[in-house]
Amino acid sequence: MEQLNTKILIIGAGPSGMVAAGYLHKCGVDCLVVEKSTFPRFSIGESLLPSSMENFKEAELLEAIKSAGFQKKYGARFLKNGKIGEFDFSQKYGEGWDWTWQVPRADFDLVLANEIQRKGIEILFNTEVTKVIFNGKKSTIDIIINSQEKKEIKADFIIDASGNGRVLANQLKLNAAPKITGNSSIFTHIKEKNRPKGKEGELITFEVLNNKTWFWYFPFSNGNSSLGFVSTNNWFKGFSNDNSIAFSEMMNCLKYYQKRFEDEVPLFTPVKLTNISRNVNKIYGKGFALTGNSGEFLDPVFSSGVAIATESGLKAAKLARLDVEGLEVDWEKEYAQYMQEGISVFSSYVKEWYTGNLQKLFFHDMPRTEIKEQICAVLAGYVWNKSNPFVKSHKRIIKNIARLIDQEEINI
Ligand SMILES: Cc1cc2nc3c(=O)[nH]c(=O)nc-3n(C[C@H](O)[C@H](O)[C@H](O)COP(=O)(O)OP(=O)(O)OC[C@H]3O[C@@H](n4cnc5c(N)ncnc54)[C@H](O)[C@@H]3O)c2cc1C
Repeated sequence: MEQLNTKILIIGAGPSGMVAAGYLHKCGVDCLVVEKSTFPRFSIGESLLPSSMENFKEAELLEAIKSAGFQKKYGARFLKNGKIGEFDFSQKYGEGWDWTWQVPRADFDLVLANEIQRKGIEILFNTEVTKVIFNGKKSTIDIIINSQEKKEIKADFIIDASGNGRVLANQLKLNAAPKITGNSSIFTHIKEKNRPKGKEGELITFEVLNNKTWFWYFPFSNGNSSLGFVSTNNWFKGFSNDNSIAFSEMMNCLKYYQKRFEDEVPLFTPVKLTNISRNVNKIYGKGFALTGNSGEFLDPVFSSGVAIATESGLKAAKLARLDVEGLEVDWEKEYAQYMQEGISVFSSYVKEWYTGNLQKLFFHDMPRTEIKEQICAVLAGYVWNKSNPFVKSHKRIIKNIARLIDQEEINI
């Protein structure tokens, strides 16, 4: 059996794996990427956060993305029962990027993969990692190419960026109960025939049906748009088992967007995913790290997936580089604890969104400027900036302000 050798093997060519590869290439570290599918391939996770721009930049991928002409995203709008909560990333607390993109992921991930290959890093497409054998310094990775040819790769370190493939989480039985449970999603794309000009046809919007249920509209620069719903598994039971019928039934529940898309035909049968959150009890071990969705995925409501995927991909690549050079790395402190700091902020926001507390702040009639800016910084992905009270006190602050709103003691 032919054997391949590399210092760092990256499993998966999604945003997490590509940011890791870009950084390692910049530092001259030998790496190889193995990707199960062929690109372009569909993926969900289309609205990015400004904080991920820094990660793309550090991985030297930003210029390639810029030249692809994706739709720029300057903020987000939330609608509920005639009320509007709008966030503009240029009006946020602290430093950071004011914009990012909303992207069809098939095209976006292809741009990243093409750029990585142009730099000279090999990506083995149509190649699935089936097993990892950890044996001291060098691990052996079993792969299957084109569903038939078996090969082995020897690597000093493995960055598992396999997303829902969950290669090491499954093999090493690392899966754990997710922090958010019981949510499903259904989504499709449309070719918009009558997209309004200007902001109305460019701005990402979330129409909120109730505390647990919301709809997304993401317009792309190629004229297509992404539409989707997220709610409890229970809510989904109230609709047809046929995804196409269920999707139009759900569209009829909308107030703001119901008429706008009534003549549009989905470009593909709506895809339904149940129990969308994921978690593990450990994101590193001797000779490996889990990054992006191969570790944890919370919920789509604040579009944090790719931001966390790129942050963890970059961080793991930095530490893996030191590890393969023989330096001591404190993976617990520098990786696991660091990642949890940011993820736990998003986790509080997601939880308080579904309790309805955060929605009270979003849709308050007279929001106080500094509070709005501090929340906006979190929505832009700046969840490690502890000088922001909405980061530092994330476990209490939303609840406390919602209580004051209820008591009408504060005009936030
Ligand atoms: C309904 C829904 C909506 C979402 N919306 C958003 C959003 O608006 N914004 C956002 O930021 N995030 C969103 N997300 C989350 C987002 O999809 C993920 O967080 C993001 O794609 C994770 O990137 P990744 O690189 O970790 O994994 P992926 O992008 O999934 O890449 C993993 C890659 O690994 C490959 N792979 C899998 N198994 C193997 C194997 N055995 N061998 C080799 N390769 C393998 C896969 O083919 C894939 O290409 C959403 C998620 C859901 C469920």
